[in-house]
Amino acid sequence: MTSIIRKVVILGGGTAGWMSAALLKKMLGSAVEIELVESEQIGTVGVGEATIPPIRLVNNVLGIKEADFLRETKATMKLAIKFENWRVPGEGYFHTFGAPGKSMAFCHFHHYWLRAKKEGLKESLWEYDLNYLCAEGGKFSHINSKDPILELPYAYHFDASLYAQFLRNYSEKLGVVRTEGKVEKVDQDNDSGYIQSLQLDTGKIIDGDLFMDCSGFNGLLIQQTLNTGYEDWSHLLPCDRAVAVPSERFLKTLPYTRSIAHGAGWQWRIPLQHRNGNGMVYSSAHCSDEQAADTLLANLDSAACGDPKFIRFLTGRRRKQWNKNVIAVGLSSGFLEPLESTSIHLIQSAIVRLIHLFPHQGIQSSTVAEYNKQSKLEFEQIRDFLVLHYHVNQRSDTQFWRDLQSMEIPNSLNQKLALFAETGRLFREQNDLFLESSWLQVMLGQGIIPKDYHPMANNPPQKDLQSMLQQIRQIKQDPLPKMLDHDEFLTRYCQITV
Ligand SMILES: Cc1cc2nc3c(=O)[nH]c(=O)nc-3n(C[C@H](O)[C@H](O)[C@H](O)COP(=O)(O)OP(=O)(O)OC[C@H]3O[C@@H](n4cnc5c(N)ncnc54)[C@H](O)[C@@H]3O)c2cc1C
Repeated sequence: MTSIIRKVVILGGGTAGWMSAALLKKMLGSAVEIELVESEQIGTVGVGEATIPPIRLVNNVLGIKEADFLRETKATMKLAIKFENWRVPGEGYFHTFGAPGKSMAFCHFHHYWLRAKKEGLKESLWEYDLNYLCAEGGKFSHINSKDPILELPYAYHFDASLYAQFLRNYSEKLGVVRTEGKVEKVDQDNDSGYIQSLQLDTGKIIDGDLFMDCSGFNGLLIQQTLNTGYEDWSHLLPCDRAVAVPSERFLKTLPYTRSIAHGAGWQWRIPLQHRNGNGMVYSSAHCSDEQAADTLLANLDSAACGDPKFIRFLTGRRRKQWNKNVIAVGLSSGFLEPLESTSIHLIQSAIVRLIHLFPHQGIQSSTVAEYNKQSKLEFEQIRDFLVLHYHVNQRSDTQFWRDLQSMEIPNSLNQKLALFAETGRLFREQNDLFLESSWLQVMLGQGIIPKDYHPMANNPPQKDLQSMLQQIRQIKQDPLPKMLDHDEFLTRYCQITV
C-alpha cells in the first residue's frame, strides 16, 4: 500500500494512547491529522506508575515544565529500586539509576573495587554511588554540577490516571481530536486486509490511513482483527497475575520504588504524593489469587484504600508490533512484568521509533521490517534482564524460587552471566536499555561475585588505590548535606504541601 498518510487514528486513551497522541502531534505538527478514540465504559488498566529516566525526554520534547508535571500528576522522584528478599530472605540491594565510582577509560571502576575488596575493603560498591546515598538518606535536589561524577539520574513515580489526563489536556490543546465511544466493528480492505475504519457503538465511523492499537491487553486491532500472533515467554517469566491496591500515603515519601520478594512472586510499593501504589505480581501455578491478596494486604505499610483489583497477563510479545497499517503500542504490543518499570518506556521508544520511520509517503515493507526488528531486539534484551533477577537467586524456601533456579535461560543471558562470573567483564549489547552499571548492580545484588577482575586494576600501588577510592567516596558524599529531604524538595519545588 503506497497511499500518503494523512490521518492517524489512535485506538485507546491509556498511557499508550495519550503519549502517542502528544508526541506524534508535537513532532509531526500539521503534517498529519490525529484522532483518538477511547471508551470511558471500558476504562484503562489503572496501573503503571513507576518509570525510568528516559521519561524525562518526553517532558523535554513536549516542553512541559517539571514542577507543573509533578504537581498535576502527584508525582514523586525516583532514584532507584530497592530489591528486598530477592537473593535470600532478609537481605536487599539497590538497583540505582546512577553508576558507582567514576567512568574510566578501558577499565570499569568495579574492577578496582573488586581488587580492593580482595584486599579487605569494607565498603560496598553502592557506597560510591550518589543515587544510592541520596536514596538511602531520603534526599533529593537537582544537582547543578557539570562534572559527570556528580550526575544524579532520576525518573518519576506518578498517578497513572492523572498522567493520562495530563497528556490528554496537552494533546487536545495541540489539536488532537478525541472521540468517545466503543469500537464495535473494524472495517478492512478486502484485498490488502488493511484497516479502513472503526465503527463505534454511537454509530460514528472513523476512518484513517494509519492505526495505532493502544487498546490494552486485548489488542483489538493487532490481534483480534489482524490475528498477528504472540510469542509466549511464560516459561522464562512465570508470573502471570497481579493484584493491586492503593493505600494511604506514608508520613515520609521515599525517593525510590520498593520491590519485595515473597514466596511466589513479589510486591511493589510506589510512593506518590497523595497515596501509595501497591501490588503483588505472582505465579498462578504457585499461589492462588486469595493467597496473593492476603500476602499483599498483610504487607502494606499503611491502610488500604479500596478493594484489591486482579489483573491477568501473559508475558511475551506480539510477533509483529507493526502489521499492515496497524502499529501496536503499549499493552497490545506485548507485556513484560513491571519489575524494572519498563512498559511505559517501551511505549515511549515505540513512538520514537515510529516517528523516525514515519511512512509519510505510504507504508513500505522495508520500513515495517526495520521497525519490527528493532522492537523485537528491545523486548528480548529487557526480557533477559528481568530473567536475571529471578534465575540467579539463592532461595530454597519455596518451589517457585527453586523452579526459577533450575529453569533453562536464553543463551544470550547465559553467556553474559558466565563472562561476568569468570572475569568480572560486562559489555552493553547494542542499544540495550540497561547499561553496564545496571547489570553490574543486579548481578552483584543477586550474589554473583566474579572470580577475577581486569589486570589493569593491579596497576596502582595499594596505598594509591585506597586513596583513590577514599577520594571518590568523598566527592560523592560532599553534596549530601546541602540536599533537601525528598518531601521538602516536593514542597518547595512544586509548591505542594505533602
Ligand atoms: C500489574 C501491572 C503493573 C504495572 N506497573 C508498571 C510500572 O510500574 N511501570 C510501567 O512502566 N508500566 C507498568 N505497567 C504497564 C502499564 O500499566 C502500561 O504499559 C500502561 O498503563 C499502558 O497501558 P495501555 O495504554 O496500553 O492500555 P490501557 O490502560 O488498558 O488502555 C486501553 C485503552 O483502550 C481503550 N479501549 C479498549 N478497547 C476499546 C474499544 N473496543 N473501544 C474503544 N476503546 C477501547 C480503553 O478504554 C483504554 O482507554 C504495569 C502493568 C501491570 C499489568
